[in-house]
Amino acid sequence: APEQSGEPALTEGLRAHGVAMALGLPIPADGPGTPRGALSLLFGAARVFSLEEWTALRDVTHLAAVGLRLAALGQEHEHLLARLTYISTTDALTGVANRRHGEELLDKEIRRARRYRLPLALLSFDIDRFKAVNDTYGYPVGDVALRTVADTTRAVLRASDILVRSGGEEFHIIAPHTSAIDGLKMAEKVRVAIEQAEIPGCDHVTVSLGVAQLGEQESGDSLTQRVDAALARAKRAGRNCVELAMQ
Ligand code: GH3
Ligand code: MG
Ligand code: MG
Repeated sequence: APEQSGEPALTEGLRAHGVAMALGLPIPADGPGTPRGALSLLFGAARVFSLEEWTALRDVTHLAAVGLRLAALGQEHEHLLARLTYISTTDALTGVANRRHGEELLDKEIRRARRYRLPLALLSFDIDRFKAVNDTYGYPVGDVALRTVADTTRAVLRASDILVRSGGEEFHIIAPHTSAIDGLKMAEKVRVAIEQAEIPGCDHVTVSLGVAQLGEQESGDSLTQRVDAALARAKRAGRNCVELAMQ
């Protein structure tokens, strides 16, 4: 009876809604332990239940328990899937896209650029004389330098640009809606930002960069090859500089 609720406000509320009897049935936990909740049934008139009705009501609470368990499993599944997607697409050291994911994203951006007839630039850069950093300061400091380079680069990019760690100390930037000229400006911005970045535990590092704009019929592989060739030229030209890819 509403009077037995133990809370005057609740009693009044139930009465006000025409409730003459409230029935609370515990929804059982998976195993032993406190119930996971209660199924509350409200009646306009007090009544008694037959044994069959009690059994049916108990079955309903078990069904509710199964439903709640399924919902929890569904959530757990979603959470695990998101975690798996993150792990399989992200470079663990720097938190940027890994190489495989970068290749997928480049193909996607190429298709988008074609569809909307927009320019697309690809940048490639590699830390200069990085082996010497490891040799001088040790591998853990080298790792800090790699993370600093990734963070510094991310900070100067637009939200739509995609930073990819494509190899040990080599990165690519996929820059949608960006022409060769804008790509060159962007590369120079990245070069200067990295050159000036403070790296805990070691000297400053520099990077060499290549820039290429997607050709009309060009594939992702061809664009990547051209930009990497431009990067190799920047290395030969003395490092800490930017080179534009040949068409
Ligand atoms: P260059 O200017 O021609 O690029 O010279 P470099 O010394 O950077 O080139 P090289 O390819 O000879 O050396 C790359 C170095 O990058 C060697 C390798 O130990 C280091 N490296 C690659 N991956 C990692 C990493 O995950 N952590 C650290 N600390 N070092 C890495
Ligand atoms: Mg290098
Ligand atoms: Mg390299």
